[in-house]
Amino acid sequence: MPVLTHRTIVDGWFREISPQWQGQAMTLKVNKILHIEQSKYQDVLVFESETFGNVLVLDGAIQCTERDEFSYQEMIAHLPLASHPNPKKVLVIGGGDGGVVREVLQHESVEHVVLCDIDEAVIRVSKQYLPHMSSLLSSPRVEVYVGDGFAFLQEHQSTYDVIITDSSDPVGPAQSLFEKPYFQLLHDSLTPGGHISTQAECLWLHSTLIKELQIMTRKIFTTSEYAFTTIPTYPGGQIGFIVASKGVERDLAIPLRKVPNTRYYNSDVHKAAYMLPEFARALLQEG
Ligand code: SAM
Repeated sequence: MPVLTHRTIVDGWFREISPQWQGQAMTLKVNKILHIEQSKYQDVLVFESETFGNVLVLDGAIQCTERDEFSYQEMIAHLPLASHPNPKKVLVIGGGDGGVVREVLQHESVEHVVLCDIDEAVIRVSKQYLPHMSSLLSSPRVEVYVGDGFAFLQEHQSTYDVIITDSSDPVGPAQSLFEKPYFQLLHDSLTPGGHISTQAECLWLHSTLIKELQIMTRKIFTTSEYAFTTIPTYPGGQIGFIVASKGVERDLAIPLRKVPNTRYYNSDVHKAAYMLPEFARALLQEG
């Protein structure tokens, strides 16, 4: 068996170097490289780390680690679902590791979940190396579709009660998922009173993008807010979400039900996720 090597792993340490987070880089000690592949869309790497379990990396950027993934998956899923009165049909765009789908299925009202990820390689390697995230992709309530999220939405107008965009960063295949035409399509694909949540990057690193997203989504949706979670292996240790509602004024910070089996999310964390530190509040309120 040839020894696997990858450009991001030097002297046994993975380094997450990218112009998206200039001058800083998360490093993780690697026990073993498990999988390397150039898929049709991206560079796919899975390694076993010393302290964070198995790690999925796409185009050099960490997507999830077994140790801390729950803080992200629970929050991006439960913030829009627990504040919706009766979510039945849910769409997840991206999220091929299956972690968000696992959380969506915690909601008993949900009858059907569609996962739409552009890259079958992510779904395949997650089934092999991230079973705790991907195992419920085979649930009878779940339909897995491989394709571009933007194109999928164009075919499914007024269909979903909640749409969650669990995308990679706004470079490569996910770039269109951060632009205005995509948010208009999200809006048009919701049922009346529907909610979205989207991966919306880090306050410490991407404040310009977050502000643009908030201004743009407030023109399209009735309510739109930025909420956040903490997570050690995403750049800056924090990541946020744009959560928005269609057609109704809704206090998205108020959960309407308890969610079982969580490790990060609870009703108090739900409310607190919308409470921004002063620098962020000032930034998002300006203009
Ligand atoms: N939580 C992660 C993060 O913030 O880094 C994202 C994880 S998830 C694995 C990201 C997924 O989005 C990838 O599997 C990628 O294939 C998918 N993706 C990127 N662009 C897409 C598009 N245009 N349509 C559907 N899925 C897309």
